[in-house]
Parts: sequence; structure tokens; C-alpha cells
Amino acid sequence: MPTLGDSADLVIIGGGGSGLAAAVRAREIGIRDVVVLEKTARPGGNAWLAVVMMGLGDPDELSADMTAWRDRTFTAMMRFGDWTLDAKLVRAFVDKYPQVVAWLTDRGMQLETGGFEVGGRQFTILRMPERKGGYRVSDPSRGPGFIGSTAGDLLLEDCQKLGVRILTKTRATKILLGESGKEVRGVLVSGPDGERTIRAPRVILAAGGFGANEEMMRKYFPEHFRGEGPINTLCGGSSTGDGIAMAQDIGLAMGEDMDPGIIGPGHHPWRHGLHEALLRPETLWVNRNGERFINEAVSFMAGPALMRQPGAILYALLDSGIKEHIQANPSPRQVQMGGEEWLRALDKDLEIEAGWNRNVSAVAGSWDELAQKIGVNAEVLRATVDRYNALCGQGRDADFVKDSRYLMPLRTPPYCAILGVRFCHGTEGGVKVNERMEVTGRAGLRIEGLYATGDNTSGWVTEWGVPGTTLAFAFTSGYMAAESAAANAGG
Ligand SMILES: Cc1cc2nc3c(=O)[nH]c(=O)nc-3n(C[C@H](O)[C@H](O)[C@H](O)COP(=O)(O)OP(=O)(O)OC[C@H]3O[C@@H](n4cnc5c(N)ncnc54)[C@H](O)[C@@H]3O)c2cc1C
Repeated sequence: MPTLGDSADLVIIGGGGSGLAAAVRAREIGIRDVVVLEKTARPGGNAWLAVVMMGLGDPDELSADMTAWRDRTFTAMMRFGDWTLDAKLVRAFVDKYPQVVAWLTDRGMQLETGGFEVGGRQFTILRMPERKGGYRVSDPSRGPGFIGSTAGDLLLEDCQKLGVRILTKTRATKILLGESGKEVRGVLVSGPDGERTIRAPRVILAAGGFGANEEMMRKYFPEHFRGEGPINTLCGGSSTGDGIAMAQDIGLAMGEDMDPGIIGPGHHPWRHGLHEALLRPETLWVNRNGERFINEAVSFMAGPALMRQPGAILYALLDSGIKEHIQANPSPRQVQMGGEEWLRALDKDLEIEAGWNRNVSAVAGSWDELAQKIGVNAEVLRATVDRYNALCGQGRDADFVKDSRYLMPLRTPPYCAILGVRFCHGTEGGVKVNERMEVTGRAGLRIEGLYATGDNTSGWVTEWGVPGTTLAFAFTSGYMAAESAAANAGG
């Protein structure tokens, strides 16, 4: 039997990006007793891993009133969603976001503006000038130490200063409603002291996505599991969709906009130098049949095409000329992430993996030997390489129209092959909310006192979008939910 006894003015389920923002904002504007439930030992969530956040335009725009930026960003988001998103919610988010960035920078965050390209379009992003915190990481392309964990740490500090109660290793298992089913009464939790209820008139569902829950992934995104082949996950193991399960348990419907966050190719097992080399547009990608199937410059946006290949895998091929070229010329993104050091260590990574005989990467003195090592038909592979080299000689990719800057023939052994597979970097989408982050899932009806934020909400989600939207939405939606909760509570 659960124990009764604890109560709070506001309970937040999930201590990730949106939950921590909600907690601090709620205390700042007068909600007295705020409890954050975090099922892991450390708050932070997937936000802990995030690197960039939606930009606010060019530096000279920052001193303006942001109207032009707001209108442009609203339009870009709506277009990415083919105008199917909740326009009021998107509008409320872009209107509030600049204020939330200022709120974070007031806490000491140092952010700089950078450029980011998506599908041939240029956007600005906010990022940290360098990794902070002295973290030792095996993958320099992600946090901790970048924007998500730095903001998370600052918010956590403020939670402590403001007296927010953070209950770690405490998992919410059920949202409790009043008898009418129309208002929130609290949360059932399971923690170090067993199962108990925390009574509260307001609850914010901030439990993140479900990228680490294969069963849910298969249920919501069956099209991505049609083929064979693995989908590895980059999410924290706590991304199991608990928020969505709890919402469904009280009869809430989910929104239609959901994103599986599947990108690819990436190298598995993760070795950063090999991953970065594989994503370089100068490499030649072949499927398990030894055939080229795509313009390699699409980089990590090849997930859907990769799914349709045999085994849903590819090999990136390099000769020693291409390898030396990419080691000597890291891309600006690779430099920003410290990735050029990892590219320099490429030979060592290749040597280690080549010794495994597991088809994850291989080095050989001839194409026939390489084909044999990676289990690809040698004749087909040779024909593919010959055709590609001929296109490079002509300076024009008549097959897939890759930019001629990247056309480099593969003629100088040793030749290398690096395995690429698909990855999930986090799902977005779930509960329907309105522009005040109030949950509206029951045929538009809302449950008094119930709010939702971040990755477990819908109405704003697109498969590809303005870069850094998800982290921006996490912090902003948390901030907005706290303001709504305070307004509805009268303090
Ligand atoms: C590798 C990686 C890199 C990323 N990089 C970027 C980036 O550069 N830019 C960007 O915009 N976005 C990025 N994202 C996405 C971004 O991190 C998320 O959109 C953001 O963290 C969402 O915030 P959230 O609060 O909804 O969820 P989270 O930050 O994931 O927090 C959810 C929290 O809820 C807790 N929880 C779950 N269930 C329960 C329960 N039942 N009871 C109690 N606690 C529970 C979890 O443990 C977790 O701490 C990245 C994601 C990943 C995985």
C-alpha cells in the first residue's frame, strides 16, 4: 500500500531540461513548495548531452526588438511542419524564447552565435565557445560540458538556492486525478522509501522522450523498422516514455506530430574518429551489395535511405589519399568539437577494429581483399569503384550529383571501409498541449492543473527543423508551464 503524507504546491515529473527550467521559474514567481521527481541518480536528462540551441539571428538582430526574428522563425517552423503544427503554440514558443535565452545568460551562461546548415539552408545556432567543466568524454561531438549540461547545472544550483525539493531515484508511476477526473490531485511515486503519494494541485509532465524504449519505438514508428538492421540509441537510458504511458493511463490522446529522431549513418561501436571520417562527403558509400545508392554529402540525414538498403547498413570507402586529405582538412564543425584530434587518431582506430574481424571496419591492400573482409561481392565493388573514379575524372557526378568539390578518386592503397548504421538521438512528440502548456488531450478538454513540456509533448514537432529547436523548446516550455501554473494558482 502506498504511504500518504507528503504534499507540494507543484510536482514536476522529470528533472531534465524542461523540468529544471520549470522548477526555477516556478519558485522565482512565487510557487512555494516545488518538488522535482527524477528517476535517475542525477538530474539532467538528455539535455545533459545537448550541444547547440536555436539561434537568435545575426548579432545585429540581437539588439533589435526581435520581431523580424520571431516572424521568420515562426514561419520556418511552420513550413518545416507543412503548416500542420499548432500555430498558437509555435507562436507562443518563439515569442517567449528570446526572454528565456536572456534568463539563462543572466545566470552566467556564455553563448556565441554560429552557423548551421540543414538541407542546404543556413541557420544560426547558439553554442558555448568551448567545452566547460573538465569532462573526459569518449565522444567530443556531444555533452556534457556544452550548452545543455551547463544550463542544467546552473538551473540545478538555483533549485538548491531556491529550496526546490529534488527527489532523485524517485520515479513517478501514476498521475492521480480527483473523482470527477477533471483535475489533478497528485502523483504516485516509487523511490528509496517505497511507494507513496505526493498530493499536489498542479503537476508538470516533463519526463522526456522514448528513444531508449524499443517497444514504443516500434509501436509509434513502424515504418522505421520495416527493414532489417539495427537502430542504436544515443539517448540516456531513462528515455523510456514514462510520461506518455502515464498520460495514456488517464485517457489522454497523443498528438499526431512525432519524430523518431533517427539519423544516420553513424559508426557503431562508437569510435569518434571513424564516425567523423564516415560522415565526410569525400568518401564513397556503398551498401551491402557493393552498390552506391546516395549522394554522400547528405551526411547524417541519410537515415531513411539507409533503412531501404540490405541490412540497413553502409560502408564508407576511403583510399589513403582521401584519408590523408580529411585528416589534414577537418571541417569547421569538426574543429569546433575538437574532432580533428580524433581524425588524426584514425589509423589507430582502424587498426584496432580491423583486428576484430567483425565487419565493422577493415583495411586492405586491394579492393578484392577489402570486399572479402566486409562480405561484399568483389566484382560489384570493383565496378562501383571504377564507375565512381571515372565520374571523378570527369569532374561531374552524373549518378547522384555530388558537388564536384568532393569528387576524389580512390586509387591509392591501402583501402579502408567503415561501417555506418542508423542511430536514434531522441524522440519528440506525445501529449497535446495548448499555448499555455496545459494538457488538452481529451478531445480538447483540459485537466485542471496538468501541464506538459519538452520532448513528451506534440504540436511543435517536425522531423527536420530549425537546428537546436528541441533544447530551446525544452527550456522555454518549462518556463511557460511554470508561469501558467503560477497564474492559475494565484501564487
Ligand atoms: C545525444 C543527444 C544530443 C542532443 N543534442 C541536442 C542539441 O545539440 N540541440 C538540441 O536542441 N537538442 C538536442 N538533443 C535533444 C534535447 O536534449 C532534448 O530535446 C531535451 O533534453 C528535452 O528535454 P526534456 O526535459 O523534455 O527531456 P530530458 O532532458 O530528457 O529530461 C527528462 C527527464 O525525466 C526523467 N524521467 C523520465 N521518466 C521519469 C519518471 N517516471 N519519473 C521521474 N523522472 C523521470 C528522466 O530521467 C530525465 O532526467 C539531444 C539529445 C540527445 C540524446
